[in-house]
Amino acid sequence: MKNIKCLVVLAISICILAAGCEQHEVNEFKTYSNVYYTLQYPSNWQDPVLNHSKVVLVSNTNKLYFSIHQMFYEGSLQDLIPEKEYEECVIDGVKGYVIENKEGDELYTFYVVPKNDMIFEFTFISQDDGDKNQETIDQLIESFEFNNFKSMSFGNWNKYSTENIEVYYPDNSNIYDEVTKWSDQRQNAFNYICEYLDVQWDQEPIKMFVFNSQEHGQQYGIQLGFAWSMFSQIYTLDIQTKGHELSHCISYHINSGRTIDSDLIEEGLATHLDMTGRDFHQLAANLLREKSFSITLLGDKFREHENAYTFGASFVKYLIDEYSLDLFKEFYAQNKYNEEESFKRFYNKDGSTLINEWIELLKTY
Ligand SMILES: [Zn+2]
Repeated sequence: MKNIKCLVVLAISICILAAGCEQHEVNEFKTYSNVYYTLQYPSNWQDPVLNHSKVVLVSNTNKLYFSIHQMFYEGSLQDLIPEKEYEECVIDGVKGYVIENKEGDELYTFYVVPKNDMIFEFTFISQDDGDKNQETIDQLIESFEFNNFKSMSFGNWNKYSTENIEVYYPDNSNIYDEVTKWSDQRQNAFNYICEYLDVQWDQEPIKMFVFNSQEHGQQYGIQLGFAWSMFSQIYTLDIQTKGHELSHCISYHINSGRTIDSDLIEEGLATHLDMTGRDFHQLAANLLREKSFSITLLGDKFREHENAYTFGASFVKYLIDEYSLDLFKEFYAQNKYNEEESFKRFYNKDGSTLINEWIELLKTY
C-alpha cells in the first residue's frame, strides 16, 4: 500500500543534477518566515495562507500543495506516526521521518520533524508524480531552515495553572496583569461545560496558548483561534469567548474521541456552550426574518453563512431541548455515520426536516 523511500537523501543528488542541466528553468523565489522557520518558495506560487496551525502554499498550476503543520508537543515522535511505514530523513540537520502514500493519481508525502518542544509536519500533495514536482519538493525542503526559536517557544512563555487548565502567555500579553482572573473564568467555564455534558475529566490539563491579536498569531504561523481537541490544546485570542474552544475539547471526551463529522453540530454545540449567555434563538430568529427563512446549514454549506455559528447554536439548543440531551450526546459522540445518516439514525428524520421544525419554532420568536 505504501511506497516508502527517503526523499531527503535523494534531494541533494537531484539538486546537483538539476543545477548542471542547461534546460533547467531558473525559478525566482520568495521568502516566507515566521518565529519558527524560514523557507523559499517559487515566486509564481500563490501567497501563503494560514489555516489554523498550518501554513499552506499552492503552486501556480494547482498541481502541488504544500503545508507545514506545527504543534507544541511534549510526547515522543514515535507516538505520532505508524510503525514500519516510515524511513528516516534529515531536514536542516534535524532527524525525522518521511512517509509516502499514493491515492489515485495523488501522491502524498509527509515529513515529520521534531525541534525543541515542537513537531513540524510537512505535507506535499502532488497531482502527478512527475520529476518537476519532485524537484520543487526537494527545493522547498532544501531551503527550509529553523530559526532560533528556543527562547520564544510556547514552552518558555509564562504559565499559570488552574485545576484543569494551563494558561500560556508571553510577557507582553494583554492578560499579563489579570491572568488569575482570566484563568479562573476559563476554569469556571470548564466546570460548567463538564457538568452540562456529564463528562468526567480524567485527562491532563487543557493547554491554552493566549495571543494578543491575529497579527500576533501570524508571527507564529497561526490563524486564531482553534482547539486541537485530540491533544487538549487551544490557541486563542485573549478576547475570545470563555467557553467555545473549551467546549470543543471537552465534548471530544463524551465518548473517547468519537465525534460526529458535522460542522453544523460541532460548531453549534461549541457556540451553544460559549458562556456568553446570548439568547441564540432570539438572535437566529431576528437573522432569519431578514433572510426570509431560507438558509442551508447542512453538509459543506455550513460555513458559507456569516452567521452560521449563531444558527448552529440555536439549532443545537433546539435538538437538546426538544429531543433530550442524552439523545443529542449519543448522536454527537459517534463517528459511525455521516451527517445525514446520523440524523436518520438517531432522530429518525432527515436533517432538512429537523431544520424546518426548528425554523417553525423560531417563527414564534
Ligand atoms: Zn469552533
